Amino acid sequence: MYQEPIFLTPVFQERIWGGQKLQTEFNYEIPFEHTGEAWVISAHPNGPSIIKNGALKGESLKEAWEQHGDLFNRKTTNDEAFPLLIKILDANDDLSVQVHPDDKYAREVENQPYGKTECWYVLSADDDAQIIFGHHANTHDELKQMIADGEWDNLLRRVPVKEGDFVYVPSGTIHAIGKGIVILETQQSSDITYRVYDYNRTDAQGNTRELHLNAATDVTTVPHETPNVDQLEEIDAGLTAKRLVKETYFTVYHWNLDGVVEKERVVDFLQISVVKGQAEITVKGNVFTINKGENFIIPATVDHYRLEGQAEFIVSYPS
Ligand code: ZN
Repeated sequence: MYQEPIFLTPVFQERIWGGQKLQTEFNYEIPFEHTGEAWVISAHPNGPSIIKNGALKGESLKEAWEQHGDLFNRKTTNDEAFPLLIKILDANDDLSVQVHPDDKYAREVENQPYGKTECWYVLSADDDAQIIFGHHANTHDELKQMIADGEWDNLLRRVPVKEGDFVYVPSGTIHAIGKGIVILETQQSSDITYRVYDYNRTDAQGNTRELHLNAATDVTTVPHETPNVDQLEEIDAGLTAKRLVKETYFTVYHWNLDGVVEKERVVDFLQISVVKGQAEITVKGNVFTINKGENFIIPATVDHYRLEGQAEFIVSYPS
């Protein structure tokens, strides 16, 4: 099976804060005026990617994971869910201020397999772009009181971001992506979000979106902790690989390809998104074009591959 990469078709999600950049920047055929998210490597039941090539063409990544464990070096036959989810987000407006639970809370309270630790690589950002990352409350009581009083300016920690920045967001961190930012997100395969504040926005019918204040304050880390991420750079001829994070759930790299590199697959499987440029990948003499916007998996059935071109990639695998 698969002596080639597994190429995937994204699934798009309509969001009130979404825009058109997934089309204008990534050339995706987006289905909505406000397209917020492309789930580019997903086996999540709320939006599984579809395989574009090879023996499993037309099947979802979720089906492939469940039925073809050899592609991922799955060591057990239990019903463990696919661990990670990769998205590209276009924040044409501010996202709601939110927080996600950890695995324990997700299992006990939501009956879901995974909580949500996530991380962002900033693909582009307006000059004045900022994110919300953490808060200034010292105790849970203070957090609840400041939320009840709507003291958002005092409570929320704002951080400017620019293209190329990386942000690691462990579960329990209050956060929001701000207007004018496009990110690639690597996260646990989870869709549990507790909304803390939505800027009192209303939809066309005049309705606000639901908040989840009890769950949100339950799962928020107090006081806020800014995690230390230990980054390192590995330079080969043709490829500069910068490790952005290596944590409990995932390891993420930024690869800058300039020329040719031969690679061995050293982990069970590799998730790759082309975020800039044009390149080719060769496996067993077969050449595939991989331009910006392409997303694929190097499965466990491929031991060796060759990259050639000028391109940037975000590469990840379960830690
Ligand atoms: Zn989030």
